[in-house]
Amino acid sequence: MLTTILYRSHICEGITVQAVEEMVASANGKNSHANVTGILLYNGTHFFQLLEGPEENVKEIYHHICKDSRHYNIVELLCDYAPARRFGKTGMELFDLREYVHEDVLQRVLDKGTSRYQLKYDDRALQFFRTFVESTEKENYFEIPLADSWEFVADDEVQLLPRQAEVEDDEFSFAFQPIIDPLSREIVALEALLRARDGKSPADYFASLQGDALYEADLRSKRTAFALAAELGLKDHPLSINLLPLTLVKIPDAVPYLLQEIKRFGLIPDQITIEFTESDVMSRIADFNRAVRALKAEGLRVAIEHFGSGFAGLLLLSEFQPDKIKINRSLIQDVHKSGPRQAIIQGIIKCCTSLEISVTAVGVEKAEEWMWLESAGISAFQGNLFASPALQGIPLILWPEKNTNY
Ligand code: C2E
Ligand code: MN
Repeated sequence: MLTTILYRSHICEGITVQAVEEMVASANGKNSHANVTGILLYNGTHFFQLLEGPEENVKEIYHHICKDSRHYNIVELLCDYAPARRFGKTGMELFDLREYVHEDVLQRVLDKGTSRYQLKYDDRALQFFRTFVESTEKENYFEIPLADSWEFVADDEVQLLPRQAEVEDDEFSFAFQPIIDPLSREIVALEALLRARDGKSPADYFASLQGDALYEADLRSKRTAFALAAELGLKDHPLSINLLPLTLVKIPDAVPYLLQEIKRFGLIPDQITIEFTESDVMSRIADFNRAVRALKAEGLRVAIEHFGSGFAGLLLLSEFQPDKIKINRSLIQDVHKSGPRQAIIQGIIKCCTSLEISVTAVGVEKAEEWMWLESAGISAFQGNLFASPALQGIPLILWPEKNTNY
């Protein structure tokens, strides 16, 4: 199927226009052999390329392009299908935008095209040409340094002492994972994650329970979470726990039970954030809201996690505004390379900023993901890049430090 890929990237220092021309010339032969056509725009700093052809060939060539060390910050903007090529002349043409006067340049680019309609029918690919040529999206291009410009180092001074609690022979236990602000070197909170004894994931553990036993287990397990947090000496660090939204709705004494257990272990309600996924909330929004009001009246904070991965996201947010939103790995993964993910996360951040809701990124594994998210304005992070969850323990945190050899 005729496939189109559009990407943008940043030229590496020291690469001359001549070198770019030579690169295009050598790519030309390969592309025409693979029946891939397109155009490469260059503005002195950025490349913007369209590749069109059979799906497999386009993807293979793009994969190759991503590995080229002459450019970096390669962001895929569009991958789509079309009935005909937009730039169907053989090979790959290099178009240096600087050689044309500004008013004229978009039309000159489009004149290179082979599609009949140019911008007439709101073609997404051609609209991307317009935004690139007119530089209207430029403030959203974050120049992320290479991954090895940072080292991740344990630092005694900002560490919660790694330690392990006594093992209790219970049906489940908890692992703790820090949420940190890497640049201010602060621990924002610790999250208690349920661990079943047989190694099942929280989702599988809950799936093995029937009916209201599920909500009972979810609620009563929090006693263990609070007990462990107290034993691990959380001091005044905030603690996050997870609950299914329906646990609050289905169990009438859920709120008094939580408060009683928080106090039993010497914790204070203001220290605790309860994280809910957005699933099932909308069907019981009035009951959920009532339970949340009771929690808030006691000083607890509320977060919505896995934001954007369910169907209720934006509708839920219009009805209910939490203190915090957590974006999880499914949206974070390789965000530095993906135009759609970048646009969605920027949208979430903008919306949360207007509502004074703080945003946490969860599941950060790569330095580039973290750097992109920092540039976009997020400052709270949870992920294996900094610290993996520790069973019944507090893990060592690795803090980013500028690599001095760099
Ligand atoms: P969550 O609350 O968003 O927790 C973060 C999940 O991401 C955890 O998975 C954690 O191990 C994982 N994670 C953290 N950093 C990374 C990373 O860098 N890479 C990858 N690949 N994963 C990372 P876990 O512990 O399996 O928990 C999954 C979900 O189960 C949680 O997502 C939460 O929604 C739910 N859950 C956990 N404990 C409880 C609980 O006590 N009650 C309820 N109702 N749900 C719970
Ligand atoms: Mn959570």
